[in-house]
Amino acid sequence: MTTMKAVVFLGKDRIAVQEVPKPRPGPGEAVIRITTTTICGTDVHIVRGEYPVKPGLILGHEPVGVIEELGAGLEDLYTIGERVIVGAITPCGQCFYCQNGSSSQCGGALGGWKFGNTINGAWAEYLLVPDAKANLAPIPHGLTDEDVVLCPDIFSTGLAGAERGGIKVGDSVAVFAQGPIGLCATLGAKLKGAALIIAIDPTSGRLEIARRFGADVTLHPKKIDTIAEIKRLTDGRGVDVAIEALGQQETFENALRAIRPGGTLSSLGVYSGKLVAPYQAFYAGLGDQTIVTSLCPGGKERMRRLMAMVAHRRVDLTPLVTHHFALDEIETAFDLFSRQRDGVLKVALHPSGPKADRMPRLAGVGAMDQER
Ligand SMILES: [Zn+2]
Ligand SMILES: [Zn+2]
Repeated sequence: MTTMKAVVFLGKDRIAVQEVPKPRPGPGEAVIRITTTTICGTDVHIVRGEYPVKPGLILGHEPVGVIEELGAGLEDLYTIGERVIVGAITPCGQCFYCQNGSSSQCGGALGGWKFGNTINGAWAEYLLVPDAKANLAPIPHGLTDEDVVLCPDIFSTGLAGAERGGIKVGDSVAVFAQGPIGLCATLGAKLKGAALIIAIDPTSGRLEIARRFGADVTLHPKKIDTIAEIKRLTDGRGVDVAIEALGQQETFENALRAIRPGGTLSSLGVYSGKLVAPYQAFYAGLGDQTIVTSLCPGGKERMRRLMAMVAHRRVDLTPLVTHHFALDEIETAFDLFSRQRDGVLKVALHPSGPKADRMPRLAGVGAMDQER
């Protein structure tokens, strides 16, 4: 039996690199060799025992790789050695939810999220991709792993916050929290044509990137009355759309207070416990407000669109990839990321070692120029 290295969840606060069987594809499935992946805030929730997955599972849901092996039925569509990404969410495309436009909920609540949740994930040398026909997305020529590693989840999720918030040209938008997803929501608000974008976060380094990503105004919640300032900037009304990108009572409540009557709260956070809507901010339930929630959109067409935005230089997500580690260094990488040390935004994990599989940005550009 062939084996591979993978990061296995052993139980609360315990992960380890282990030798496990290398997957083989069944009909309609593919195996990709992972060249780059990353750690998500959701993985931190899992490792801390705040979101249940079964011990023995390989974690990680943001894969960039190379097609290693194709199951029956895929030979005419893909080639071995082709560089691909796969969305964090892998819809089947066939079920009730997929056919009704809720493909992230494929098969049932949160069902589209399979990698590192219900099936083995991407923190490994190889990854088995289910429903490969719907999910393998070839990487456009000339793009590096770092260019596209945030497409499977972070960019897709952040942008979904702006899309599902129904942002229109000329809207005012407030984005609560500027972690990687909040920053991509800020970028999404800009792409959707918002006139005024207000970014809120207590970390000045993140507010700086928020400005680069399209924020006109940045607010530090400990230094200013955020809601009063948002009202002042919007003729006393509140913003048309607020995006919540943290998953806490306080930011949810503030996002609700920040929207005008008839406005939309687009929620991206992952919450635990009970969430309360205060009477005043909720206008006793009579404010014509809309609250929408989103799980990351997946599937190969979504991935194609996101990578097209990168390929045509509408967006540059590389400032968010702040650190690189080999897969063996997962404990160091996880510690740095989960404790938010050293200005970390996202860490890139390289199962084949940090230097492997970096594609030159442009023909003729040496691999050394890829270090950022
Ligand atoms: Zn994630
Ligand atoms: Zn489905």
